[in-house]
Amino acid sequence: MKGIGASPGIVIGKAVIYWKDQIDILREYVENPDSEVERFRVALELSVEEIQETYSRFIKRVGPREAVLFQAHRTMARDPDFVGQIERMILDEGINAEWAVKQVSDDLIQLFDHMEGDHMKVRSDGVRNISDRVIKLLLHVGGTDISNLREDAIIVARRFAPADMAQIDRERTIGLVSEEGSRASHSAIIARTLEIPAVVSAAHILDEVENGDTLILDGESGMVLVRPDDETIEKYKGLKERYETFKKSLETVRGERTRTLDGVDIILGANIGSPVDLDDVLRNDGESIGLYRTESLYLDSDHFPTEETQFLAYRAVVEPMAGRPVTIRTLDVGGDKNLDYLAVPEEKNPFLGYRAIRICLDRPEVFKVQLRAMLRASAFGQVRILLPMISSLEELRSAKAILEEARAELREENLPFGDVQTGIMVEVPSTAILSDHFAPEVDFFSIGTNDLIQYTVAADRENEKLAPLYSQYHPAVLRLIRTVIDNGRASGVPVAMCGESAGDPKLIPVLLGLGLSEFSMNPSSILQARWILRNISRKDLASAADEALSLGTAREVEDYCAGLLVALKLVH
Ligand code: PEP
Ligand code: MG
Repeated sequence: MKGIGASPGIVIGKAVIYWKDQIDILREYVENPDSEVERFRVALELSVEEIQETYSRFIKRVGPREAVLFQAHRTMARDPDFVGQIERMILDEGINAEWAVKQVSDDLIQLFDHMEGDHMKVRSDGVRNISDRVIKLLLHVGGTDISNLREDAIIVARRFAPADMAQIDRERTIGLVSEEGSRASHSAIIARTLEIPAVVSAAHILDEVENGDTLILDGESGMVLVRPDDETIEKYKGLKERYETFKKSLETVRGERTRTLDGVDIILGANIGSPVDLDDVLRNDGESIGLYRTESLYLDSDHFPTEETQFLAYRAVVEPMAGRPVTIRTLDVGGDKNLDYLAVPEEKNPFLGYRAIRICLDRPEVFKVQLRAMLRASAFGQVRILLPMISSLEELRSAKAILEEARAELREENLPFGDVQTGIMVEVPSTAILSDHFAPEVDFFSIGTNDLIQYTVAADRENEKLAPLYSQYHPAVLRLIRTVIDNGRASGVPVAMCGESAGDPKLIPVLLGLGLSEFSMNPSSILQARWILRNISRKDLASAADEALSLGTAREVEDYCAGLLVALKLVH
């Protein structure tokens, strides 16, 4: 069976099914509705404790940026309307608690699902999460406890929510397969961070697999084999060994510089979401921070974080990087990341709406606090400020004017800061097309393919149904990338890439051939990228890049890139 490879690696192991069965919930009359309400309250309290535990574990394991999702679950469990409706139903109809929880939750989920906006999706996920927890507790059915597996297992589920990712037993979970989910989804990114091989969007996998079945999972090709015969197992054991030998061989490039065969020096940076991720960067030999997403500071708070809070967080990254560049991105909320305290009215198309730099320019007093904190952190190392979602020159100019004001204020106050470069994310097609106009006004470009793809092919990055459309191999996306690199070079402006494509082994040779000189990626991809880059030559790949860009479909480009990797003997 073929799904989508979401986190690389080959594993062979026993399946553990997570939440395959639907629980039958029957409507029953109870003798004592008051004590039924009490039973509900106890289960609700335990659920809140569970959420709290998951939240704390998540912060430690994955970082505060992702953990913020649990706040929505906790908020729902404390929502007086939600809780009141359930209790009233138990008392008015004299029925069992699990039935009332199910009815009220189903109605709310339906209501939220029919309302537009990611904010509503977060709310419906919150209701689903809390009602599942409460019902499981009321019925004393635990489901599989994936936080505490008895033996090594490949977990199979309909979908992994970020909450599930927080719970999983990192020691014994050797692989993940889900029926739904996309490669660009939150959980897939977490699986890559945790280095657990994963396949998503494996259609009907739950119909085919039973607990204890042997599975083979290839997180690169997306292949899942159910109950394979001995011969297939032997074959994949060989492949797995080869992959592991390959991973070990990457150690040889640790500590080496990233220089191509023809002597081109490349900067290999890492993407992080909080200072917690710095360990992964240093462990994986990251040469710089190519993208520090600062949203967690804002999402994890119920008010705008103060200049001091931000300064401390930025300094906590800048100082340990000891003079190596740290690219800090200004606030990129909106779209799928909402700040309650910003009180943005519901939008029909949040990804095309009031977000990122648009909010910052509308709220300069908020923006300036962040810019001041970044400037102050620059006294401790090399800081580059990165502006997200820029779609017009006026936005860039306005942002730079506010940055100048921040500099003037700090000078006035005698607060030290260093030389700070200012660059923009190129993630909106208008900016890629006009990059010749932008180039003289910026110090660097950073191409954000995650959004550039979705805006170029008009396909939501989180929607698995659109996975074939949302492709980093789409020739239109690659042509935009070429435009940006060419325009950057013509003006002497360095061009980096910090979208997920930068760490894609199949795409790296073409990106080098196009002239990209700075790549920033998930820390776990760095050593492989360095190994590839040290074994290829930019001048030899220029014509291969032309060839790839002359093709008409994403499939053709992907096949071409895969063939190129084989021809270069860079397949393990
Ligand atoms: C991007 O859009 O490519 C990017 C790096 O930013 P984010 O994934 O945070 O939108
Ligand atoms: Mg983006």
